[in-house]
Amino acid sequence: VASRETRAEPTCVNTLDLKIGGGHIGVIAGPCSVESEEQLLTSARAVKAAGATGLRGGAFKPRTSPYAFQGLKEDGLKLLAAARDETGLAVVTEIMTPGHIDLLVKYADVLQIGARNMQNYHLLQAVGDAGKPVLLKRGPSATMDEFLLAAEYILDRGNSQVVLCERGVRTFETHTRFTLPLASVPYLQQRTHLPVLIDPSHGTGIASLVPPMAAAAVAVGCDGLMVEVHPDPSKALSDGAQSLTPKVFAEMMETCRTVASSS
Ligand code: PEP
Ligand code: MN
Repeated sequence: VASRETRAEPTCVNTLDLKIGGGHIGVIAGPCSVESEEQLLTSARAVKAAGATGLRGGAFKPRTSPYAFQGLKEDGLKLLAAARDETGLAVVTEIMTPGHIDLLVKYADVLQIGARNMQNYHLLQAVGDAGKPVLLKRGPSATMDEFLLAAEYILDRGNSQVVLCERGVRTFETHTRFTLPLASVPYLQQRTHLPVLIDPSHGTGIASLVPPMAAAAVAVGCDGLMVEVHPDPSKALSDGAQSLTPKVFAEMMETCRTVASSS
């Protein structure tokens, strides 16, 4: 169902002012985790002013260590919804279990499937049934065929609002957190009608590499970006090393606009 043969027109995933695909480059930005009202609202106002139309923020976090910050849970979802009410930004947040569907659909505009859950088939079916757009992240060791078949699980339930997100894969290389293959953009666009988004934050793990990789992603024709932004990255409870300050994010957006208008 994801293939170009079944649908020649590119799919545009669309909610509130967030449009991804079909000629629109949608930018989703915000903190890795929702940490407090002030942290989230500061981030939301800043990314909106810089031109983002989606707000990201994890309330249920898939942390490698069970001792690391696990997220504010429903309190975090409430803060996201309040930030949307103030700014109009579409809320994108991760769902980790089918048991949270009823809770998440109350607050989120886009349900994010994290890299670790790309092949959690019952979760894919549950978001397929949820009636909300889905942002599906590529598993760090998933092949393109596995990625596309994971998307099929959502499409097969009648939900066509699926965004494919390349967020980097695990290789022998350790100088970056993951290795970010930008060839995924044209490759997936040639094979599917689904929009392709790049996450240069998780893809590199290093804040100084995020703006150049975002610009490169726009140059190869991505349909959107997901970027981590924190008012004070050094104090972030998760992924501070890859988070941009609002100022650097605004500069990144300027560069990306220049690249988009010249390509
Ligand atoms: C995230 O977006 O904060 C996240 C956990 O990403 P990923 O699933 O790509 O690791
Ligand atoms: Mn993160």
